[in-house]
Amino acid sequence: MKLGIPKESVRGETRVSVIPETVKRLVEKGFEVIVEDGAGAAALYTNQEYSAQGATIVPTHEAVLGTADLVLKVQPPLMGENGGPDELALMRAGSGIVSFLQPFSRADLVRSLAEKKIDGFSMELIPRISRAQNMDALSSQATVSGYKAVLLAADHLTRFFPMFMTAAGTIPPARVLVLGAGVAGLQAIATAKRLGAVVEAFDTRPVVKGEVESLGARFISIEISHEAAQDAGGYAKELSKDQHAKELELIASRLPRADVVISTANVPGQKAPVLITAAMARSMRPGAVIVDLAAENGGNCELTEPGQIAQKEGLTLIGLTNLPGLMPTHASQMYSKNVGNLLLHMAGKEGFKVDRADPITAGILVTYQGQVVHPALQPK
Ligand code: NAD
Repeated sequence: MKLGIPKESVRGETRVSVIPETVKRLVEKGFEVIVEDGAGAAALYTNQEYSAQGATIVPTHEAVLGTADLVLKVQPPLMGENGGPDELALMRAGSGIVSFLQPFSRADLVRSLAEKKIDGFSMELIPRISRAQNMDALSSQATVSGYKAVLLAADHLTRFFPMFMTAAGTIPPARVLVLGAGVAGLQAIATAKRLGAVVEAFDTRPVVKGEVESLGARFISIEISHEAAQDAGGYAKELSKDQHAKELELIASRLPRADVVISTANVPGQKAPVLITAAMARSMRPGAVIVDLAAENGGNCELTEPGQIAQKEGLTLIGLTNLPGLMPTHASQMYSKNVGNLLLHMAGKEGFKVDRADPITAGILVTYQGQVVHPALQPK
């Protein structure tokens, strides 16, 4: 089976789906691997390193997409939008793609994959079960985002993060408020603590209290039962109007003292909840920084401009939507590990096959042999 690693076409995407170290594991397993010329360059992985691990370098995007049995990508394939290539048109009927596919917001892409008889495996849908943890690309990339969000905030803040007692006076530590203590939020807490900030974190799921406190941050929340806060899969549920009003009140009481807010709150399949209205943002100290990791999903702050760093109301609002793309070497390494582990799992002992009785395969399979097969994507 021939695996194809193209260069990413989306502007600003510096990651690569598979790095040379993973190529080695895949070649040892019996896969053939082709890599587009320069596919790893932006993430600092060279053609020579890929070749040394057994990959064949091919000169063009068309050659990779047109000859691979399974294309391995980071960003969903383009369909000619924004002046980019029509990557789906370049792929062969009967081939497959493993990538982030954004299946719940990209019905057009899912439909086209089925029409073109391309089997789609969505990295967002890796089940969150223990044995799939090493394939969990949402978690690996959220780890990068949480870390980088704090560094961006520190860089834009006109104050120190740590406390200093010097001959030139005493500097109090920065106060950081983290909204949403999932994977990205916990990494943001850990990073802000390492930089010496005083950190508090808010989440609607009471279950994260212990994790927040074990990182040395203060946990704040509203009165809410475990059942009302999260579903069986561990994800947050949308709050009732009354509960949402209560959380806004609590957050509003904390904002005037915060130097930095890192917001990460998401409810799967929905627009991100608004946790900072424009009026609430206006209550913050001049120079405060908000990093809105939910920007791509509509944003947790009403003032966020997705994709931009904006100055408004005396605040810096960071709405960049691809933070892992700012740290492509390690973000690619982690994503590559996830993809490699998935392929080695699917290959089992007998070679790569699509076993729909396997919960991991069934969980990520969006389209198969010309049909949209994922249960969550069936017409209501
Ligand atoms: P996510 O990106 O969907 O959401 C981020 C956080 O926002 C969550 O903690 C959520 O509770 C919070 N949130 C949602 N609505 C909110 C609101 N109105 N106000 C404040 N906070 C709000 O979540 P995620 O980081 O992908 O992780 C979700 C859960 O899954 C976590 O408990 C995580 O530990 C768990 N998880 C399990 C595994 C595994 O078992 N393999 C792997 C990864 C994550």
